[in-house]
Amino acid sequence: MDCIFCKIANGEIPSRTIYEDQQFRVILDLSPATKGHALILPKEHADNLFELPEKVAADAMNVAKKMGAVLKDRLNADGLNLVQNNGEAAGQTVMHFHLHMIPRYKEDGQNINWKPHEPSAEELDEICKQITEA
Ligand code: 5GP
Ligand code: ZN
Repeated sequence: MDCIFCKIANGEIPSRTIYEDQQFRVILDLSPATKGHALILPKEHADNLFELPEKVAADAMNVAKKMGAVLKDRLNADGLNLVQNNGEAAGQTVMHFHLHMIPRYKEDGQNINWKPHEPSAEELDEICKQITEA
């Protein structure tokens, strides 16, 4: 399979690696939203979160916790966004699971946002039912 993130994660294509272990490589994003924007890549291919083994998903969050703190500390960031897109409709452009770590700085001008809707109580009840009822 011709997957660029497989090649990067497994070291076939060079990258600016800030962390590596048996399961993951963490690299700087080539088109960063902010200074230090990094991607957590599992070495084992999975298209997205739904395909990812449970243990890898859990371990990815622990890498984010550890490396997020490193980024915040080393780069003097004021905050951090974790972003993870699944599917084209959700903005995923590379179909190999990756977890974005985006350090945030006061007045960095970035906007990781959505337009809030105002559903009625009935609509919210219906959605809740649709999700939870058999
Ligand atoms: P997505 O939109 O799929 O969630 O994010 C893909 C991310 O991968 C983007 O932020 C993009 O800048 C980054 N990216 C795409 N190709 C490469 C690459 O070859 N190297 C690196 N370091 N980042 C890449
Ligand atoms: Zn891959």
